[in-house]
Amino acid sequence: MNIHEYQGKEILSSFGVRIQRGIVAQDAKEAVEAAKKLTEQTGTGWHVIKAQVHAGGRGKGGGVKLAKNLQEVEDLAGQIIGMNLVTPQTSAEGKKVHQVLIAEDVYYPGDSEPEEYYMSVLLNRGTGRNMIMYSTEGGVDIETVAEETPHLIFNEEIDPAVGLLPFQARRIAFNLGLSGNAFKEMTKFVMALYEAFTKSDSSLFEINPVLKTSDDKILAVDAKVTLDDNALFRHKDYAEMRDVREESPVEVEAREVGLNYVDLDGNVGCMVNGAGLAMATMDLIKQAGGEPANFLDVGGTADAKRVEEAFRLILKDDKVKAILVNIFGGIVRCDRVAQGIVDAYKNMGNIHVPIIVRLQGTNADIAKEIIDNSGLDVYSAVEFQEAADKVQEVLS
Ligand code: GDP
Ligand code: MN
Repeated sequence: MNIHEYQGKEILSSFGVRIQRGIVAQDAKEAVEAAKKLTEQTGTGWHVIKAQVHAGGRGKGGGVKLAKNLQEVEDLAGQIIGMNLVTPQTSAEGKKVHQVLIAEDVYYPGDSEPEEYYMSVLLNRGTGRNMIMYSTEGGVDIETVAEETPHLIFNEEIDPAVGLLPFQARRIAFNLGLSGNAFKEMTKFVMALYEAFTKSDSSLFEINPVLKTSDDKILAVDAKVTLDDNALFRHKDYAEMRDVREESPVEVEAREVGLNYVDLDGNVGCMVNGAGLAMATMDLIKQAGGEPANFLDVGGTADAKRVEEAFRLILKDDKVKAILVNIFGGIVRCDRVAQGIVDAYKNMGNIHVPIIVRLQGTNADIAKEIIDNSGLDVYSAVEFQEAADKVQEVLS
C-alpha cells in the first residue's frame, strides 16, 4: 500500500528519523493556519507548498513551490489544490491534488551549501536481504544516476540475523563524504531509518532528497513509503492511512470483494485462478499478439457468484473486447466453474464481448460440454495455445 509523503514522514518521525516538519492542509485557509503554526515551531517564515499525491517527480510538474510569506502560501496552496498534477510518474491526465503539505523551508534562505543525497531501503530479491541503496547524487532522478554514473550508487546489505550494525551506518556516512558532526548525524539517521523500515513492515522507503543543511543537520525532505499489505493487520493505524482517491476505482472494488485485480492497458480481459497461471496467461496473450487488460486471480473458489463479480470488474473497463477465462480445476471442479460462467452470463444479461474459456483438470470434459451446449457467445478451448489463438480470431 502506498501512502502520502506527509504520512510517510509521520512514520519516520515516530522512530526518531529527523524530517522536514510540516502540516497537511485541505484548502488555502487551512494552509495559512498551518504556516502560522509552523512558524511558531520553527521560526522560519518561508514555507514549501507540496502537493500530496501518490506519484513522484512532483517538483518537475509544478507541485512543489516555495512561499516567502503568508500571502504566497495562500495563493500557491489555492493554485495547487484542485490542479491536475502531471509528473513523469503520472499518466498524461495527471493526478488531482486534494491536499498539500505546508513544510518548513529547510534550504535556509542564503544557505549556500545544502547537500542532497539519495537513500532507499528495500529488499534485494537476489540475495533475499534488505539493503540500503544510497548516493551522493540526491534530488535528481535516481534512474538517470544509475544510467550515467552508476559508480555513484552504493549498496549496504543487511544480515537479517543481526540487523543493521553501527559500522555499516558509519560506512554509509563515510561513502557520502561526511565528517565531523554531519557524520554522526548521518549514522543516527541511517540507524533510525532502518529501524523504522523493519518495525513498520514496509517494503520500500525512498528518501530523495536526504538533506544536509549548512549547520550539519541531516533530515528527510521527501518520503516515499510503501507498506506491506500483508502486515497491515498488525498496524491498524497505518491501515487507516489508505487514500482510496489515489487508487484505481476498479482495484478498490476488487479488494472489497476479495479479488486480486490489477488494471492494465490492453483489450483482453483475463480471469484466472492462481497468480502464476495468471502471469502465464498474460504472457500467452502477448505472444499471440494481444494485450492483457488486467491481471485477475479469482483464487480457489470459482463459483457462479465469484465468476459474476469477476466479469463485472473486467467489463467496467470499456477497452475490453474479449475475455479469456483460464482455470485449472484442481480443488475446484471444472464443471462447476463452467456452470458458474453460464449462470453468470445469463444472470448479468449485458455481456457484449465474446468469452473464450479454457478449463483443464477435474471434469474438464463435462465442463466443455456445458460451454459448448450453452448457446451463448462463449467458446471452449482445451489447450492453452488454442485459447490464445481463439482470442486473436475473435478480435480480428
Ligand atoms: P518530488 O519532486 O515529488 O520528488 O518532491 P520532493 O519532496 O523531493 O521535492 C522536490 C524538490 O523541491 C526537492 O528536490 C528540493 O529541491 C525542493 N524542495 C523541497 N523542500 C524544499 C525546501 O524546504 N526549500 C526549498 N528551497 N526547496 C525545497
Ligand atoms: Mn523527491
